Amino acid sequence: MTARTKTKAQKKPTPLMTIRHRIQAFAVLATFLLGLRHVLPGKASTGGSFDAFCPFGGIETLLPYLFRGETLKTTNLLNFAILFGVLGVSLVAGRAFCGWLCPLGALQEKLARLARKLSGEKRHIRGKKSAARFPMRLPKRVDKWARYIKYLLLGIILWVSVTAVYPPLHFLCPVRAVFSFQMTGLLWSVLITFVVTSLLVERFWCKYLCPLGAALAIFNKIAPLRLRVDDHKCVDCGRCDVECPMDIADAHANSRDLECIQCLECLETCALKDTVTLEMITIQAPHDA
Ligand code: SF4
Ligand code: SF4
Ligand code: SF4
Repeated sequence: MTARTKTKAQKKPTPLMTIRHRIQAFAVLATFLLGLRHVLPGKASTGGSFDAFCPFGGIETLLPYLFRGETLKTTNLLNFAILFGVLGVSLVAGRAFCGWLCPLGALQEKLARLARKLSGEKRHIRGKKSAARFPMRLPKRVDKWARYIKYLLLGIILWVSVTAVYPPLHFLCPVRAVFSFQMTGLLWSVLITFVVTSLLVERFWCKYLCPLGAALAIFNKIAPLRLRVDDHKCVDCGRCDVECPMDIADAHANSRDLECIQCLECLETCALKDTVTLEMITIQAPHDA
């Protein structure tokens, strides 16, 4: 294969990522239609609030439901059903919801792509470091500590939820800011902050602020479906690190990292056959004595 044809092959969208992007686009469209449904006049706008379809609403209203026997305003039992669905996916595939299904995650990836285009990237070549100025990475020390903010926020939200009337994130939720069409001054500020930060740093909200991502992170340690890197074949070329949207250092070696969103970009990027694979760990029965 000549150098020219090799470059062409690298530019072609890979099938797995095409599927992922289509699923993400579907999630964005579905959430957009859901938001629209709640502002349209007539019967289409009835039948539960926009919040009732949010998995994180299930976390916000869990403690009030257990302690007070009631769900918070704008949430209901549907939140639990959706949360359990997301937890089911997480039990099998870790944070795959973040990498494949979350509309907010999908939008952040689109905004990062836009930032690359606007700041100097002519053509994205898979695995090759972009010449674009944005999105950038925060300095390592800042990044390391800032990633704990989302866990802190999750703790605060759970604590506040016990005595709350509305879900603690209700007035500041970026999903509502992007999709609900029921804007307030506060939600406009959230929307602007969300767009600007996503252009500056890829998946800023996911890395540093999202309490749902924090809640799902633990599943990366226990989920049986996981990435495996064959250390004998890996040549440490770093191509997979370039594509990792969560900027996980040594992405190929840290697929069980709490930050991994199981997007499989690293699997798609690795040019060496069977070096990165997706496998299902099975629990071995103890041998008979
Ligand atoms: S971390 Fe939060 S915003 Fe990001 S993809 Fe996961 S659930 Fe969505
Ligand atoms: S390590 Fe791989 S699967 Fe995990 S977030 Fe990075 S690119 Fe995606
Ligand atoms: S896993 Fe593949 S892409 Fe990543 S460093 Fe190893 S050889 Fe390179």
